[in-house]
Amino acid sequence: MPSIAMPDPTRHKYCLRCKKWYEPKDGIPVPRAVPLLFAMFLLPPLAHFIVKKVKAMLSPESCLFMCNECYSSKRRRDNILWVIMVLFIVSIAVYLALI
Ligand SMILES: [Zn+2]
Repeated sequence: MPSIAMPDPTRHKYCLRCKKWYEPKDGIPVPRAVPLLFAMFLLPPLAHFIVKKVKAMLSPESCLFMCNECYSSKRRRDNILWVIMVLFIVSIAVYLALI
């Protein structure tokens, strides 16, 4: 449940993605470096995502928190990207093996 009315920065947490304030129990802490490294690995399709991450990292109060909804949708999207990438690599390998 987003706490929109009168957020208290000392008590509430700011979500990296949806830019809303939450109670600390309504999300999970996110390490700063890991999402950035993952985004760097997928550089071309995710350039805007990296810029957003870097901006989020520069403001100290917006680091290290993501609400439950954003985290689950991010995980779902990351999984889909990985499946697409693996299928692409496998199809190239099969094509090279057959010619
Ligand atoms: Zn969120």
